[in-house]
Amino acid sequence: MDAVLTGGCQCGAIRYALGAMPEGTSICHCRMCQKAVGGPFAVYAPVRMRDFAWTRGTPPAFRSSTAAERHFCPACGTPLTFRYFHKDWIDVSIGSLDQPERVTPQRHVGNEGRIPWMVGAVLEALPVSSTTDSPTLQGLVSYQHPDHDTPAGWAPGA
Ligand SMILES: [Zn+2]
Ligand SMILES: [Zn+2]
Repeated sequence: MDAVLTGGCQCGAIRYALGAMPEGTSICHCRMCQKAVGGPFAVYAPVRMRDFAWTRGTPPAFRSSTAAERHFCPACGTPLTFRYFHKDWIDVSIGSLDQPERVTPQRHVGNEGRIPWMVGAVLEALPVSSTTDSPTLQGLVSYQHPDHDTPAGWAPGA
């Protein structure tokens, strides 16, 4: 399989590759996705199982219902996938992609769980800053895996 997109967890213990561009990426507001990613919503990008491969490590999955499971990194906790047992598709969390900007959401789902402030007008009205604006973060050393594949044996801080 030739990798079209790659991704993995924050610590680099788990890496994966996609052999095709995702189809039908969704922003899901449901309570299960909120819990699974620890955020106000999840954005999952689906590919067929044949277009998905773990390339470093094999993560555990939490069975969040009778219908589905969600893989996560046991070392750093990054939410990685969502998968319905009855479908031949697996969704990756777009934040775990090396280039999340290459995937654009197509729709909102799970709208019953949407947090009231998760609407454009409210979000657009908030003040904005960048991480690089913060003087306390000057000189920090990142232990996050870089946004590309690395040789076997790569370790945080090495
Ligand atoms: Zn990890
Ligand atoms: Zn959901």
